[in-house]
Amino acid sequence: MAENEKSTNFVQQAIDEDLKNGKYTEGIHTRFPPEPNGYLHIGHAKSICLNFGLALNNNGLCNLRFDDTNPTKEDVEYVDSIQEDIHWLGFDWQDRKFYASDYFEKLYDYAVELIKRGLAYVDDSTAEEIRQNRGTLTEAGKESPFRNRSVEENLDLFTRMKAGEFADGARVLRAKIDMASPNINMRDPVIYRIAHAHHHRTGDAWCIYPMYDFAHPLSDAIEGITHSVCTLEFEDHRPFYDWLLESLGFDVNTRPRQIEFARLDLTNTVTSKRKLLQLVKEGHVSGWDDPRMSTLSGLRRRGFTPAAIRNFCNEIGVAKANSLVDISMLEHCVREDLNETADRVMAVLNPLKVVLTNVPEGKVEYLVAENHPKHGGNRYIPFSREIYIERDDFMECAPKKFFRLKPDCEVRLKHAYIIKCEEVIKDAEGNVIELHCTIDPTSKSGGATANRKIKGTIHWVEANSAIKAEVRLYDYLLKTDENGNLPDDFIAALNPDSLVVVKNALIEPSVKFAAPGTRYQFLRLGYFVIDYDTTFDNLVFNRIVTLKDTWAKIKCKD
Ligand code: ATP
Ligand code: MG
Repeated sequence: MAENEKSTNFVQQAIDEDLKNGKYTEGIHTRFPPEPNGYLHIGHAKSICLNFGLALNNNGLCNLRFDDTNPTKEDVEYVDSIQEDIHWLGFDWQDRKFYASDYFEKLYDYAVELIKRGLAYVDDSTAEEIRQNRGTLTEAGKESPFRNRSVEENLDLFTRMKAGEFADGARVLRAKIDMASPNINMRDPVIYRIAHAHHHRTGDAWCIYPMYDFAHPLSDAIEGITHSVCTLEFEDHRPFYDWLLESLGFDVNTRPRQIEFARLDLTNTVTSKRKLLQLVKEGHVSGWDDPRMSTLSGLRRRGFTPAAIRNFCNEIGVAKANSLVDISMLEHCVREDLNETADRVMAVLNPLKVVLTNVPEGKVEYLVAENHPKHGGNRYIPFSREIYIERDDFMECAPKKFFRLKPDCEVRLKHAYIIKCEEVIKDAEGNVIELHCTIDPTSKSGGATANRKIKGTIHWVEANSAIKAEVRLYDYLLKTDENGNLPDDFIAALNPDSLVVVKNALIEPSVKFAAPGTRYQFLRLGYFVIDYDTTFDNLVFNRIVTLKDTWAKIKCKD
C-alpha cells in the first residue's frame, strides 16, 4: 500500500534522530488518544493514519487509548463508535486498548508523590480566584495564599478530597511550578479537581478526576509510549509535559516525547466535536452518521471508502503549520478510488418517456453492457419499445452545440442503438411529456452502422424493468466564503440545499439484489451508494460525489 511507504515527514525525522542517538532501544510506540465525547471526524482520521502509520513504518506498535478523564461528557456509545471507525479505516490496536481510567489509581499515587516532593499543593481558592490570579501574557501571576501549605497538610487534604469530604469546586490540587513563568501553562496548573460525577467505567469509585494535562503524559509513560504525537494547540503544554515526567523521575532516554503537528481543517464543513454535536442536537442533520457530516460514520454512510480517506491523509501530509484544506481534494481522492473500483450502471434521475415507434410492442432484447471500462465483466440490460431518458438530455429549441437529443436529430443510447427524435408530445400546458423516436436497427454494437459517427451518447433505462428509487443528492453542509472561512456563528452558514431528495428516479434492474453499501458509478451522473435506509420496496441511494466533468447546463432561450 502506498500509504505505508516510509514517509519522510518531520515526525518521522524526529524518530530517526532519536533512534540514531540511541534513544528508545525497545522500539517505537505511538498511541491514538480519543476522548470518548463524540464521534470521530475526518481530522481524527489524519491523526489515526499518522499514529498507526508511524508504528507500521517503524516496526513499532500503536495503542488505542480512551482519554476518559471527563466523566460528564463521555459515553459508551462514543467508545463503541470510535472502535468501529478505526477498524473501518483499516487499522488495528490488537490487544492494546486502554483507558486513562485504567490508571486512576496510579495517577493518584503520582499526585501523592508530587505532594511528597513538595511539587503540588491543595488550593482552596475558587475557580474565579485562580483565573484572576493567573496573570496575563505580559503580567506575572500571583501566588495563592495556600501555596505554602506543609506536605502533611496537603497530603491530609488530598486524601480527604478523594474520600469525598468536599463539594465540587471547593478545592483543587495544583502543581507547584512558577507563577511568574512566561508560559501560563506553567503557572501552577490545576492537576486534580473534585467532581462528584458518575464515570462510565469506574462508576462512583472516584469523586476527584485528573486534568488532561496531568493524565496524558503519565498515561503515555505508563504505556511505554515513545512518541506522543498531538496537535499544535498542545505546543505550549509541552513544557508541563516534560516537567511532570522529569519531576517524577522518568528517564529522558526512554520516557515519551511530545511532538505536535498541524490539525486538519477542511472547507465547507466543521471538524470540532463540539460543533458536530451541536448540529446533531439542534436537528440540522439526521444524526452523527448523516452523510453530510465530516464524521467517519457520516463519510462511510455517504459512500466514501477507507482507502480514499487514507490516501487523502497521505496526500495532505503532516506539517508544522495550520492550514485549511479544500474539500475538493478529499472528493478527488474518492473519485480516483471509485473510478477504479465502482461498477458502472445506468440510472435516470429525472425521467422523460421515449417510445421507440419502430420497435415491436412486447419485444424485449437483452444487450451486453460492460460493468467497468478496465475490468469487471459484462451484464445484460433489457431494451424494449419504451425507455426513459434524462429530461435534461432533450431540448426542443436547442443551440447548435447541444449534442444530446433534439427534434429531427440523432443521439446514441449507451450500449444500445442510435435513435432519432421524430415527434414531441406535449400536455395541455405545453410541457413535453413524451418523445416518439425511431431506432437505427443496425446501429447497435456489431451491427452494420454501429460505427456511424454521432456526436452525443446518453444514458437511459428500459421502462418495464427499471426499479424506482429514492436518490439523495448531497451538497456541502456549510457554505464558506471565497477564502474557505466560516462566519463565527457557523450555523448561519448552513446550506439550505445540502440535501435534495429525488423520489422517482429509475435504475436499471441489475442493482436489484445489491446490498446496502454497494457503490456504483451512474453513467454521466456521479458515484452513488445504496443507503442503509433501503427496504424491500424502497431502494435508497446516496450520491457520493458528482463526476468531475459535469456537463454544462445549457438553458433553452425561450
Ligand atoms: P475536537 O476539537 O473535535 O473536540 P479533540 O482534539 O478534542 O477534537 P480528541 O478526542 O482529544 O479530540 O482527539 C484525539 C486525537 O485526535 C488527538 O491526538 C487530537 O490531537 C487528534 N485530532 C483531533 N482533531 C484533529 C484534527 N482536526 N486534525 C488532526 N488531528 C486531530
Ligand atoms: Mg481533546
